[in-house]
Amino acid sequence: MTTDTSPTGWDGIAGGDRGTPLAEWQAWAAAREPDPELTVPGDYRRLVVVAPHPDDEILGVGETASRFAAAGVEVLIVAVTDGDASHPDSPTLSPDRLAALRGVESERACAALGLPAPVRLGIGDGLVAREEATLARAIADIVGDSGPSCLVLSTWRGDGHPDHEACGRAAAAACVATGARLVEYPVWTWHWASPGEPRVPWERRRRVVLDDADLAAKRAAVAEFTTQVAPLSARPGDEAILPPWILERLVTAEETVFW
Ligand SMILES: [Zn+2]
Repeated sequence: MTTDTSPTGWDGIAGGDRGTPLAEWQAWAAAREPDPELTVPGDYRRLVVVAPHPDDEILGVGETASRFAAAGVEVLIVAVTDGDASHPDSPTLSPDRLAALRGVESERACAALGLPAPVRLGIGDGLVAREEATLARAIADIVGDSGPSCLVLSTWRGDGHPDHEACGRAAAAACVATGARLVEYPVWTWHWASPGEPRVPWERRRRVVLDDADLAAKRAAVAEFTTQVAPLSARPGDEAILPPWILERLVTAEETVFW
């Protein structure tokens, strides 16, 4: 986690804030007209998924990406950082070891959902904003000549975590440069926002609805992230980054994209 604060004013979960509980989101969803469902559009041949940290691609849009792949769209996953800063005070794993493990976890999780191994850019965890121009060029290179027939699916520019927001801005710049279409997904928004939060572009929301089998597959993929979903040890600094109350909010019967 970085000490930089984002425009939302949210600066992470270090303070022990458990965020907006799943039940609150569910009550809100039940009381409003369902947002439209996203079906895989026929006019795209490439999908570039931008993941700030290894696990965002699965937590945010694992099923969404999987459906594009199953429909014959070429899916490319960009691992922007290696996630080496998830446990800065760990007595168990060094940042280098963590990066190596998280890369393998992400590859396994992607494979479980029929997705290719991510392309790793190796930008420093927590430092994406400093490398935003470099990242925009790298995404544009990956879009290549597919231009308007390419969707770039990145974390939302207002998601709260500085790396997530920087990825969204870089993806937006890459789309301007190449003619690809930007689509965004929230991850940390579910934590800091409340239902109806005016900064969130709910009017752009499209839902990808998971059936029981989809959800079981996603849970199995998420379980590959062992350095994140379980403590590295019982010692201070080794706590789980994705404890159950965070996971239950992220792994639900719906994925959300801002179309
Ligand atoms: Zn992340």
